[in-house]
This record gives sequence, structure tokens and C-alpha cells, in this order.
Amino acid sequence: MSQKAEFDTIVVGAGFAGMYMLYRLRMLGHRVLVIEKGGGVGGTWYWNRYPGARCDVPSMEYSYQFDHQLQQEWNWSERYSPQPEILRYANHVADRFQLRSDILFNTTVISADYEDENNLWKIATNDQTIKTATYLIAATGCLSSPNEPTISNPGEFSGEIYHTGRWPNEQIDFSNKNVAVIGTGSSAIQAIPVIAKQAKHLTVFQRTANYAVPARNAKTDPVERDHFKKNYKKFRKLAATTRNGQLAQPYDKSAIAVNQRDRKKQYEARWQQGGLPFIGSFNDLIINQKSNQTAAEFVKQKIRETVKDPKTAAILSPTSPIGCKRLCVDSGYYETFNQPNVTLIDINQTPIDSITSNGITTSTKKIELDSIVMATGFDAMTGSLEKMNISGRNGVKLKERWNAGPKTYLGIACNDYPNFFMITGPGSPSVLTNMLPTIEQHVNLVNDILSHAKKHGRQNIEATAEAQDTWHDHVNEIASKTIYPSCNSWYLGANVAGKPRVFMPYVGFPDYVARCEKIAQDGFTGFCFS
Ligand code: NAP
Repeated sequence: MSQKAEFDTIVVGAGFAGMYMLYRLRMLGHRVLVIEKGGGVGGTWYWNRYPGARCDVPSMEYSYQFDHQLQQEWNWSERYSPQPEILRYANHVADRFQLRSDILFNTTVISADYEDENNLWKIATNDQTIKTATYLIAATGCLSSPNEPTISNPGEFSGEIYHTGRWPNEQIDFSNKNVAVIGTGSSAIQAIPVIAKQAKHLTVFQRTANYAVPARNAKTDPVERDHFKKNYKKFRKLAATTRNGQLAQPYDKSAIAVNQRDRKKQYEARWQQGGLPFIGSFNDLIINQKSNQTAAEFVKQKIRETVKDPKTAAILSPTSPIGCKRLCVDSGYYETFNQPNVTLIDINQTPIDSITSNGITTSTKKIELDSIVMATGFDAMTGSLEKMNISGRNGVKLKERWNAGPKTYLGIACNDYPNFFMITGPGSPSVLTNMLPTIEQHVNLVNDILSHAKKHGRQNIEATAEAQDTWHDHVNEIASKTIYPSCNSWYLGANVAGKPRVFMPYVGFPDYVARCEKIAQDGFTGFCFS
């Protein structure tokens, strides 16, 4: 006799994607269970509690739009709200929609196996139980599996080692401590100025220099906020027309179509405005190397003007195109290197040899430390999915299937993995966009597919191999027209040793949405319903 599933759907992850998915599935009448590793909701914002953590998309935009009342009742205190406030927002949403009753916290999925004969997913968790569901939805986030650097002897260290992506849930006081930060990505760039204010001495280990643009964070202006709230619908619609799903529109000219004076003026205006819109100073910075160089040179000049020691300024100056790696948004990052208690080490010149009981030994000296902060990023986009140990039809492991890089249809489904969906999976715009609207668009799409299946009396949904291959080629083709493949970014998996070098996100939110809409209109082409 065939086995019946305990749940219609199991969702993994209770971050912004998992919470909204749960909300929609309840409306669809599904029996749902959300399994969450953390002790609370919030995903990224639950784990990334490091000093200085805040959003780099304006908070008025980095928020849900599915519920009018929710948008109206929540007030953000700052332009870029700090992590505790975003986590409070996530908790507010969980309370407001009474989501917690269907979330199992402190529980990790250790495997998920599709059983063809019973047409269900068997999901094993670390508490030694197995749950079954017809549908499995991974809302596991794109940047949730920490990348631990392989440095000799980490266990030897007698002080504390932290990872920015797994920060403890208590205040860490670095006063009077000798601290090292390894890494200079977005997390480090936010944490370094805050740690440097407390620490006796801070040593920063840099592998690759990054571009950072000032945030110009400020308290929310109540008049501006009210105006935004009154016009939310219009603003959200406008934001959906830009490549990255954010409201700031790119300046509609090529950087090389204007003279040097006007170009500088434009960069200066965006620099003063602050934040990620800098990369929209001109409309071709990510597709034209020559244009890109002009923006890169502008920022490098700012670094030289800010950092007093020319040698340190040179080490901090990136060599890759700007925006090729995710642009960082900072508050006093470059200025921090003028402090007498801060040292920068370029590990390409002076490699880390090992971690010892009381510090780090480099090729030239021993550095005594009380604390080490790994700001070494994530096994992005595929890490958490692969860790779930997913087996599809005929026991094919997703990790093995993705040996040469991930292949998906629309970033939400995979051939040979029936009734399995991903929110913001590889092949979707996700990390190149404002994540909140992208998440909502994805959840709505998955919801519509499930609803379509139900309406037509079908239970099994699977992406066809042909649709998946075509989508994979399309994602790569678009990326090849940009500067993205030209540096070692986590978009390409290049930050993790042994990971295949494949560009994972989809470039262009509006185009993605238009394609999804067309697919839906045509009865969800590329999916097989049985
Ligand atoms: P990241 O950008 O990948 O930066 C990790 C840093 O660690 C890089 O400088 C990397 O060098 C270095 N690193 C990695 N392994 C190393 C090793 N073995 N030895 C020495 N250095 C090593 O990670 P992240 O800073 O956590 O940021 C990840 C993403 O999360 C961001 O790009 C952004 O999308 C998101 N984020 C957003 C915010 C925000 O909203 N404000 C804040 C933080 C993060 P290489 O560059 O050479 O690999």
C-alpha cells in the first residue's frame, strides 16, 4: 500500500523566504511544516549579528510588500537599518501572521530523499526523526553556509574565534583586546570600523581588495517616510523596472559618452548620495570594461585621498573591475586605516602560516591575539542546498548532479527532483537584486505553480531537462555580456576551493519577471505536470 505524506509541504528555512512561503501555502490550504536550524526567525539576520551589521539596501525598500497594513504600520528608524531592527521586523511579521505555530526551530535537515513509489519526500532531521511531505521547498538562503578558511591549526588557538555569519547571540566586547579580522568583503567592511573603535589593536588580513562606497546612513526623515508610505505602490512598481530591483534609477548615459568633467561630476554626485546606486552612475558600468575603469579609477582616487599612508592605500586599491564582486557599502572603512591601532596585512605578500595557541604566525612574524574574526564569507547559492543532502529520482544526489556547477529551471526547480522547489536558487536574479521583492516574486511563482497543479488535479510537478538546459545556457549567455565573469567572485563560486567556476545568478530582474509571466500565461511551460 502506498504511503501518504504527513504534510503537503515542508519548507526548509524561516528567513524572509520561508516565512512568506508559509503564509502563502496556508492560504492555499496546505498542511505545512517549516524546519529551521536557528532558534528564531530571520535567516541571514538571525545569524549575522556581527558588529556593524546592517542592510545595504534602503530599509523602506528592503521590506515585504505583500500586505498593505504591514507596510503602513512598520517604521524604519534609519535609511539602512541595523541588524537588530531587521530581526525585530522579522519577529514582528512572525507574530503578526502567527507563523510560529508551524515552525520547528533548532532543527537541521540532514537529508531529503524523494520516493518515487510513494511520490513523497522523506526528510530526516538531526533529532533522529523522519517527516514526509508531497512538496519540499528550500528557502535556505543564498548566503547561509559559512565559508571556513583552511588555515592550519585553528583548534590550537586559546582565544575566541568568531565567524561573521555565525555570530553569537550576545554582546562581544573587544575592549583592550588584540583582534584579527580575516577577509575584506561586505561583512568585514562593516565590522572593521566598529571593532577598531574598541580593540587595543586590530590586524586586518586582506586577500583581495574590495571597492566600498560610503553608505551615508542617516535617521529616517518622518516626512520622507510618510511620502514613501503614501506612494508605496508606485515606488515598488518603479523599483521592479530596474536591473537590480531597486528604486534608484541608473543614469541613462554611457560613462564614455560624456566628457571627463561631466563624468567626474556624476560620480561625485552619486558618491555624495551614497550606497549601491553608485554602480548606476552610468548605464554601462557592468557591461563595458572601458566605462567601468572610469568608475574604478574614481573610487581608487577617493581611497588615495582618504588613506594617509600611500602604501596602505595601494594595498586597499582593488585591481578588478568595480562591481564585478559585490560592491560594498561602508561607514568609515577606509578612514579606519588611519587609526594608529589598525594594521593591514596583504596575505599575498605576507601569507598566513598557521594559527598558534596565542595568535597567528605569518611568513614574517608572530602576531599575538585574543580574538580572531573570520569574515570569510559563504559557500554561496549552492552551499546550503548541497548540505541538505538531497536525493531525487533514482537516488541521484543533487550535490553530484551539480558537480560541474548548478543547473536549474528559472532558479526554482530541477529536472529529476520532482515536487522540489527553491526560493532564490542558482539561476535566479536573487543576489544581484534587492532580495525582499525577489523573494516575494519567487514565492508567488511557486505558489501559482502549486495552485495550477491543484486546479488541474495534478500532483507531480517537474522541470523538463530541455527547459533546464535552455535556461542554463540563457543565464550564461547574459552573464557573458557583462564584466561579472572577469574576477574571482562568490557569484562564480571562486571563493571556495574546488567549487566549479560557473556564474550562478541571473542578470536582470525585469527580464526575469517578464519571462516568468509569459511562462505562467502559457500554462507553465517547461514544467511537466502529472
Ligand atoms: P565575501 O564578500 O565573500 O568576503 C569574504 C572575504 O574573506 C573576502 O575578502 C575573501 O577574499 C576573504 N577570504 C575568504 N577566504 C579566505 C582565506 N582562506 N584567507 C583569507 N581571506 C579569505 O563575504 P561577506 O563579506 O560575508 O559578504 C558576502 C555577501 O553577503 C556580500 O557580498 C553581500 O551580498 C552580503 N552581505 C550584505 C551585507 C549588507 O547588506 N550590508 C553585509 C554583509 C554581507 P577573496 O575576495 O579573495 O575571496
